[in-house]
Amino acid sequence: MIKIVFSDFDGTLTHGHELRSSFFEVLNECKRLNAELVITTGRSLSWGHYFLTHFPMQFAILEGGGIICKKTKGDKEIVEVPLVSNFEQQNLKKVTEKLLDNFPGLNLSVDSYGRKTDRAIEYFKDLEQKEKVEQFLTAHRVSFSSSNVHLNFWPGEVTKFKAIEYVLKNYFQDVKLEETIYFGDSLNDQSAFKDHPNSVGVSNIASYLHKMIHRPKKVLEGPENESSFGVLNELRKLPQS
Ligand SMILES: [Mg+2]
Repeated sequence: MIKIVFSDFDGTLTHGHELRSSFFEVLNECKRLNAELVITTGRSLSWGHYFLTHFPMQFAILEGGGIICKKTKGDKEIVEVPLVSNFEQQNLKKVTEKLLDNFPGLNLSVDSYGRKTDRAIEYFKDLEQKEKVEQFLTAHRVSFSSSNVHLNFWPGEVTKFKAIEYVLKNYFQDVKLEETIYFGDSLNDQSAFKDHPNSVGVSNIASYLHKMIHRPKKVLEGPENESSFGVLNELRKLPQS
């Protein structure tokens, strides 16, 4: 019995940059299952507000697990719950300024507006520069991870899976981790692939598998299981709770 569907967004619920009608079928499937959909993404906090105001969702995990958005007061208000301290957020700001000074021409991602607990750089075409940026981040004790669209970096011990644990512990005390499922497609989903007992990789994960230390428990195959098609097919197999 699955009560919560945790899912990455880019490449898992979207096809490239496209949001297709199958995404809305995923929303309908979650409704049939009486399951909450919690998008768990590297996208910025502002996307959390977008998800919660436009779709039937109560929670979203943003910035790779650095911050949670939740509806309160009978859905009239959206509250932000950062999992990174103010001190660390300020330190991240300083390191980011230094990074941009050191690498002229480097651009933060177009969705950087509203980011609080991490930063993102648009995907690199120049792999040599990517390596140098990663060395800079390591030297400044900043963690980083690549999604299929960005290189994200953040201070402290933030992971998508830690944020999932936080959500279950604080907002769903009666739901066990085993009663949830996780869908992802890329390197920044590895914390959930490692520790979530029901982790699923949609079939477009194939090109990243060889780079992964932690792979999903189940890997879908074939074009019929790409991105949201794969999520939809898996949800359709589940019994209603
Ligand atoms: Mg992704």
